[in-house]
Amino acid sequence: MEMATNRLIMKQLYPSFAPPEKWRNKTQSKKLKSDEWRLLREKILKKDNYTCAYCQYRLEKYQIVDHINGDPEDNNLENLQTICQMCNIVKHAGQGCVIQDIVDLYREVCKIS
Ligand SMILES: [Zn+2]
Repeated sequence: MEMATNRLIMKQLYPSFAPPEKWRNKTQSKKLKSDEWRLLREKILKKDNYTCAYCQYRLEKYQIVDHINGDPEDNNLENLQTICQMCNIVKHAGQGCVIQDIVDLYREVCKIS
């Protein structure tokens, strides 16, 4: 019964495809090192109690603050969530291959999210 209750607060995790032009570039990489991002990131981690939005794994180190819609420029609070390393890998699996034009796996799946 407790498991069923927990399932209600867990989000569904799908591999997603963000357009390559939205992926990390030099400007965004610089922003990620800024104090503004550091403070925002900490705020999100605390709000989510360092708990992964998908699998509910809680850890105070190594968690990732994820842009839900895949747009790294969109730092609205509703677009940011805490996720663990493993769920982050699932979410972004294949992107490196897509940018090198090796595979084209996730465009259809992306329409769901
Ligand atoms: Zn997770």
